[in-house]
Amino acid sequence: MSDPDSATPLTVEPAATILLAEDDPVTRMLMTRFLKKAGYEVDAVANGSEALDRMTTRYYPMLVTDWEMPEMDGVALCKAVRNMQLDGYVYALLLTARDSKEHIIAGLEAGADDYLVKPVHEAELIARLNAGRRILDLEQSLRAANQRNRILSITDALTGAYNRRYLMEQLPRELERSRRYAYPLSVLMCDVDHFKKINDMRGHAAGDEVLQQFAARAQKFIRTNSDWVARYGGEEFLIILPETPHEGAMQVADKLRELISATPFATRTGDCVVTASFGVASTGPNGPDILLKVDALIRTADECLYQSKQGGRNCSSGLEIASMPMKAHA
Ligand code: GH3
Ligand code: MG
Ligand code: MG
Ligand code: MG
Repeated sequence: MSDPDSATPLTVEPAATILLAEDDPVTRMLMTRFLKKAGYEVDAVANGSEALDRMTTRYYPMLVTDWEMPEMDGVALCKAVRNMQLDGYVYALLLTARDSKEHIIAGLEAGADDYLVKPVHEAELIARLNAGRRILDLEQSLRAANQRNRILSITDALTGAYNRRYLMEQLPRELERSRRYAYPLSVLMCDVDHFKKINDMRGHAAGDEVLQQFAARAQKFIRTNSDWVARYGGEEFLIILPETPHEGAMQVADKLRELISATPFATRTGDCVVTASFGVASTGPNGPDILLKVDALIRTADECLYQSKQGGRNCSSGLEIASMPMKAHA
């Protein structure tokens, strides 16, 4: 998961790139020249459909388009751009040779943010584009704030693992995906052994450090592209392993268990030996059967975890749902 502090920067890049659509080659060349002089990057094309093609290859925050052009005119282009799913808002300025009110209203209603009547007054065009950039900056900062809020809303503040809300939002999707594509899904429930003692003997702050390092070790250990870790409760974590059959998940549990117990955790009260118990629940090798729900998957992992606690802790137990009997690993 990315750090909220390293989210998208708050401002658009200083040299915003303009996509210029203008069919007249001389006007196109002159406008390109003075827009560049004003500090903008410019990509110039000769009509609306070329502009649309460019828009599909990269995100242009600004569009300056002539109205009258062959193939696709500026109004059709504005309409099409508003229907595209893009990485951010496109500030569209329409250049028109006619200044009747009806004409201008039609342009704005098609999706243009502003218009200028030709012949274009250079300083006015630049001033209007700079005003557009203020709007783009605002949109960008709202987008970044939303992204930060989204990350905060799905992250456990102490450990940086996903929180329970994310788990309950995302795990049903994982299960559905594994059903649709017929691949196995495994979940590992892990619980720190005798964690209460760590808190009691070393204090809550040292306990917190253990939880942070526990999550960090788990996160570092798993496949970053597909597997993910969520904090399920106080000292309980769920690790989700898509496309992982039961045997593989048992190996992951055992390796992680060894990784936890082999190296003591560094806390403010000195090194602390930590062990954890694991419960592993998996679908069959070809995905879950139609009736299997997330609750049952988690409950099964929890029951296996309970077996591991009963079996003396620092061990893993697992069940492949509807096909294999429970087995305990020492
Ligand atoms: P077992 O081996 O059976 O799992 O025993 P345990 O002591 O780990 O389990 P128990 O459920 O009795 O205790 C869990 C403790 O975790 C109790 C609770 O105060 C503590 N805890 C829960 N959340 C946090 C937290 O965020 N920070 C710290 N430091 N402790 C927490
Ligand atoms: Mg034209
Ligand atoms: Mg517990
Ligand atoms: Mg515990």
